[in-house]
Amino acid sequence: MIIQLENTISPEHLSALEEKLSAIRYQTNRVKTQYGDYIIGVGKAAFDIRSIGTMPGVRDIHQVSDAYKLVSKKWRVEDTIINLGDGIQIGTGHFAIMAGPCSIESEAQVEKTVQHLQEQGVRIMRGGVYKPRSSPYSFRGLGIDGLKMWHQKAREAGIKIITEVMMVEQIEAMADYVDIFQVGARNSQNFNLLDALGEVDKPVLLKRGISGTIDELLQAAEYIFSNGNERIMLCERGIRSYEKAYRNTMDINAIAMLKEKTHLPVIADPSHGIGLRRYVDKIALASIMAGADGVIMEVHEQPEKAFSDGQQTLSFPEASRLYKRMHQAYELREHF
Ligand code: PEP
Ligand code: MN
Repeated sequence: MIIQLENTISPEHLSALEEKLSAIRYQTNRVKTQYGDYIIGVGKAAFDIRSIGTMPGVRDIHQVSDAYKLVSKKWRVEDTIINLGDGIQIGTGHFAIMAGPCSIESEAQVEKTVQHLQEQGVRIMRGGVYKPRSSPYSFRGLGIDGLKMWHQKAREAGIKIITEVMMVEQIEAMADYVDIFQVGARNSQNFNLLDALGEVDKPVLLKRGISGTIDELLQAAEYIFSNGNERIMLCERGIRSYEKAYRNTMDINAIAMLKEKTHLPVIADPSHGIGLRRYVDKIALASIMAGADGVIMEVHEQPEKAFSDGQQTLSFPEASRLYKRMHQAYELREHF
């Protein structure tokens, strides 16, 4: 059960509510987020929902039996729109493109990418400064100094930053330089990291685990929400399957299903989703048709020289063509 409280609920009314829930043997958990104050009740006893819904200080009440509740559309019918400021919004009706290199490599690379994005009207730049690499000998990122350099260039151009955080200990130092924290596929069920990001006042893009199910992704998002951060988007980035012809199997099905199950924005990552440059455009467009609210993709001035993931990275001209086509696809979908 989810109970949304009035902001003005008095301590007496709160105690009365808690006593009532304890009388029907429901365990309660208080959740305060940027937008709401909730009590999550977990229990089995049958009760008359109206007897709680009409109590003073209760704004809304809903019974949800799934392992995830707050991120469910059963709880919130209206889709969540994430506002990044400066007129940039992500969610239903606001198609978002996030583009940039797999890894932040140098000042010159950042400058060229920022210029490309500015010319193309792309307002959010992706890039890793802490890179989860399969081999410890691969390039692992420029770290916090790289982030600070990038932040300065992006700010000057009015571009927002999305970057991956890998450890709880990195959050504090990164927070001032980040507009969206990305949780990578390998950390999708790092519950300590999810808990900590729940306490941060920054949006989070949560990627699906390499072998993660849709339900596991939603439950991971519930960790963030139930710790106080409602500004979450989910990202389909391909899952591991038996197919070896491409890097990952982009689960387009999941995009359509997630849009039905959750009010959170759903973002597609076609770059990691297929892992091969020549198909990225098709997978991006298919994801939009399936319902994606945005696309995160890897671009580089010289993909063949990229420090990581060059094989799935688009050149600037290839990316520019795709941005236009994605906007067209989105328009088309909206008019279906
Ligand atoms: C990335 O975005 O570069 C990345 C490492 O993604 P994922 O966590 O999906 O592998
Ligand atoms: Mn990458």
